[in-house]
Amino acid sequence: MTSRISSETTKKTDLLALTLPQLQQWLKEQGEPSFRAKQIYNWLYTHLVTDFAEMTSLSQALRSRLAQQACIGPIVVRRELRSKDDRTRKILLELPDGKLVESVLMLYPPLGESGARATVCVSSQAGCAFGCTFCATGQMGFDRHLSAGEIVAQVLYFARELRKAPWTAVGLPNSKPIDHITNIVLMGMGEPLHNYDNVLRALHILNSADGFNLGARHMTVSTVGLVPAIRKLSQEPLQVNLAISLHAPTDELRGQTMPVNRKYPLAELLAACKDYIVTTGRQVTFEYVLLAGVNDTPTHAHQLGDLLAPLAQFAHVNCIPVNATAAGYRPPAPDAMRTFRAILFKHGVSSSIRAERGDDIAAACGQLRTRFGKL
Ligand code: SAH
Ligand code: SF4
Repeated sequence: MTSRISSETTKKTDLLALTLPQLQQWLKEQGEPSFRAKQIYNWLYTHLVTDFAEMTSLSQALRSRLAQQACIGPIVVRRELRSKDDRTRKILLELPDGKLVESVLMLYPPLGESGARATVCVSSQAGCAFGCTFCATGQMGFDRHLSAGEIVAQVLYFARELRKAPWTAVGLPNSKPIDHITNIVLMGMGEPLHNYDNVLRALHILNSADGFNLGARHMTVSTVGLVPAIRKLSQEPLQVNLAISLHAPTDELRGQTMPVNRKYPLAELLAACKDYIVTTGRQVTFEYVLLAGVNDTPTHAHQLGDLLAPLAQFAHVNCIPVNATAAGYRPPAPDAMRTFRAILFKHGVSSSIRAERGDDIAAACGQLRTRFGKL
């Protein structure tokens, strides 16, 4: 595939990949005073500029030098799709080496006391190495890790869109429009904890009080269950939310749909989650993709309840009806989901249902790229 981004761009330093101290260091190497770093951060993350020419508090000479040596997230949006209700927007991004990844913006109207939310679902890798059978990304195989800048750029793209055109839910014309990103979830393509350093760096960049200033509590890392990385994450100063993709209550079944279970079986995974809870005092969300006839029976619900009951109020199950992919899985009927949740409740395990989004625009993980590849 030919890239529309010139090779010139790829040799430049991507400023979106740098933390503030790294930007200070980089400027020092260019013979610039380090206080410029905060100014530049402010332009990048508060003003959301895409061009050095807009950084008008910098001298003309510095702006030109920056334009020669640096870039602001070298990604190209190849496609943008919006669901009919405009609550879900999906972009297909081309990276400098021609790889394609997806990001999704999910918009939620205000509910009760809480205001509207705008959540970006971010990709952390091109493809994925873990091959879960129900996941479109998993069936593509692994291409490469995304850089911190490529992760940050996905969030900034949607932040700029909302800044330009704040969103109000159709049918709620009097509600306050939302003009900024409130949450990010690493639930796009790839396994974020397999790309640990770049993901953590991207989260630090987005968390910086001198820049985008998104609170760690508004960030969620979703993992297939990489035990050593979960333990490492529990020691990080940045306390983000943790979601575990569980999807089966026994090793036998989990091993069939999620090959990673052979390396990190449930006992080890649950022990790591328990230690995570003890260390951080935070709740863990367990994602459970419901596959009709495979993992959604009352027996499975009892097994899941038994597995998670020891974690008490620190475990929450997010039931996700599977988004149909090529693998032929089907979502359960609403009745089966109700029964499943009622059984979890009897075991003292709280749960919710994630309403699936954007069926009309192939919003499930990896689906747009799969479809696009066939065009
Ligand atoms: N690799 C990470 C994060 C990306 S996947 C992980 O597995 O957690 C984000 C979530 O989407 C995971 O819970 C994943 O299991 C789920 N998912 C994958 N394929 C899906 C599908 N076809 N329908 C619904 N959810 C799916
Ligand atoms: Fe990879 Fe997550 Fe998909 Fe599994 S569900 S294949 S870990 S992206």
